[in-house]
Amino acid sequence: MSDHCPGLDQKNESATNLEEKELKMRMGRIGRKILVLSGKGGVGKSTIAANLAAGLAMKGKKTGLLDVDLHGPSIPGIFGLKGKRLDADPRGMTLPFKIINNLKVLSIGLLLESPEDPVIWRGPMKYNVIKQLLKDTDWGDIDCLVIDSPPGTGDEPLSVAQLAGENSFALIVTTPQEIAIDDVRRSISFCKKLNLPILGLVENMSGFACPHCGKETDLFGSGGGEKLAAEMDITFLGRLPIDRNIVISGDHGSAFVEALYKTPSLVAFEKILDTIVNTAFKTSPINPNKEKLKMKIAIPMTDKKLCMHFGHCEEFALIEVDLEKKRITSATYLVPPPHEPGLLPLWLKEQGANLIIAGGMGSRAQSLFAENGIEVMVGVQGDTPDHIVADYLKGNLKTGDNVCDH
Ligand code: ADP
Repeated sequence: MSDHCPGLDQKNESATNLEEKELKMRMGRIGRKILVLSGKGGVGKSTIAANLAAGLAMKGKKTGLLDVDLHGPSIPGIFGLKGKRLDADPRGMTLPFKIINNLKVLSIGLLLESPEDPVIWRGPMKYNVIKQLLKDTDWGDIDCLVIDSPPGTGDEPLSVAQLAGENSFALIVTTPQEIAIDDVRRSISFCKKLNLPILGLVENMSGFACPHCGKETDLFGSGGGEKLAAEMDITFLGRLPIDRNIVISGDHGSAFVEALYKTPSLVAFEKILDTIVNTAFKTSPINPNKEKLKMKIAIPMTDKKLCMHFGHCEEFALIEVDLEKKRITSATYLVPPPHEPGLLPLWLKEQGANLIIAGGMGSRAQSLFAENGIEVMVGVQGDTPDHIVADYLKGNLKTGDNVCDH
């Protein structure tokens, strides 16, 4: 078998094209995404992510929590979901678990056959798994998606930052120790390089109040996070003390915002939460773009089938599809105006077409469509519009050579 199969590449191209649209559409239904990052593991990143999500939900924000820590997903444990498995619905979409009102959770840990699975995954595989998680999880229209990323600045945080799209922010978690601080400096630079706005930094495990005598001890030191935030010119959101109740509530499958009413940890956390709400929810208005869920596909036809030479088509099928439900919602058939240069792209734009699927089309016509905001797919084989669109929606539409590329 030859190493290179152009047909396969082109099929992938059509599937990728649809995937990009679906991802954009899915991300467009989420008001804002908050990526919780840390320089190293064990600093309380998942704990903060879980409590941020629960806290937002309790403030009435429709919230999702997505755990993409492929190597050590801890969100299932925090919410008592260990051992549960998620199933896909008939559309192939994954439905997250409802935890409390306004809060749904999904973890990669609930989808893996075995916890050892991802250890052997290479960068591109991780990217694809994260892309699929973001694209195929049906959160509905939500105000915020909190994403628990693995520590460091490797493949997973990079994939999330690249795929989450507009209205994304980072929240950095560190402990006061120097080593964590050095690592977190890299995380801050990582966000800056990716132009990912940073909501601020939380210094976790900062000080310990003895449950017996109340005396405070700086077990790991304190203030390092604040200094770093000032040095790197980012907001210092506050400190969270070491609190046995946090460990207990984490181990017992309940986020601590529920359990720690009026304890010092909750008071500290509430302050952090308020600042986050005031920044993230002010600077990025919720804009679930419903328009993105629908698109209109134009197909040039002769004899009720796709016309292989665009210039000879007699009729156009205009098929409206719902990308969310992956189905055709309406189909109209229209006779186009005369084939004069530049006329058809304008006419199809007026009909509301976003994509034209063609057999062969010259490069001049292709660029005229692009100028009118209509995407072009060429090299599709003659079939009925229904079949073509059904294949497109499944990501299976095959494309070959552009038969009239002149
Ligand atoms: P990470 O996601 O950074 O690896 P986790 O959130 O899983 O870290 O936290 C590691 C451990 O530390 C967990 O057992 C958690 O309950 C505990 N922990 C986190 N923050 C605190 C805190 N402020 N006080 C006490 N224990 C904490």
